[in-house]
Amino acid sequence: MLVRKEVKPLRLIDEDGLRTDGRRVDELRNIKIDVGVLKNADGSCYLEIGRNKVMAAVYGPREVHPRHLALPDRAILRCRYHMVPFSVLERKSPNPTRREIELSKVIREALEPALFLEYFPRTTIDVYIEILQADGGTRTAGISAAAVALADAGIPMRDLVTAIAVGKADGHIILDLNDLEDKYGEADMPVAMMPNLGSITLLQADGEFTPEEFKEALNLAMKGIREVYAKQREALRRRYLKVREEVEGSV
Ligand code: ADP
Repeated sequence: MLVRKEVKPLRLIDEDGLRTDGRRVDELRNIKIDVGVLKNADGSCYLEIGRNKVMAAVYGPREVHPRHLALPDRAILRCRYHMVPFSVLERKSPNPTRREIELSKVIREALEPALFLEYFPRTTIDVYIEILQADGGTRTAGISAAAVALADAGIPMRDLVTAIAVGKADGHIILDLNDLEDKYGEADMPVAMMPNLGSITLLQADGEFTPEEFKEALNLAMKGIREVYAKQREALRRRYLKVREEVEGSV
């Protein structure tokens, strides 16, 4: 039987300032975003960042079941973050873990400020995030994908939500941590923002930063967020050009 084992690296940043995957400290992994990939959802987005592969699907606004959860003055937002069993090296149980339940809540809170929920009383908007392959930064990849899927569903939004993690490895502040950096680095700080409004909707931190390091990390997160945001917009634009072509072609 083939045994695949993860090896702990001796160091995370070499003498040339390069990381385990060859990136510089302030570089993102490659990003690919496709919009409207699922026929049966109201909105959807497939996003890859490095080796992470994420699918987000949105349904709604639609009737709430069970009915008693409905609110008279606004829609409810429900989010499910889930890692499929084959998303990690050792099979993960398909049942939701405590981590996934917590991340579902954190992701809902990161997305909610962007939505005009008051436009759709007594309905629900359901967001499903499936992590197909995980390599560090899945919550932030999930948020960025879900925001695009919400826009694809035509749900009115104040702004997109864009997320990225920053952290610390071998004493350096780094952008967009991979799994090894997440596990063996000194700190990890996922950040989500509405980039145009300049408003932060998620900020978590694991590990320790000095006040200067925290500032540097937040600035680096904002730089990363601007880059991811450009990719989200580009993907949405591509999708709408395609839809327009199809509509124009059919008349
Ligand atoms: P995030 O993916 O947002 O960074 P965590 O910091 O909790 O969230 O997880 C970091 C990474 O650890 C994940 O991206 C994934 O690569 C890995 N991981 C998470 N859960 C598991 C698991 N059950 N089994 C193996 N690896 C996991």
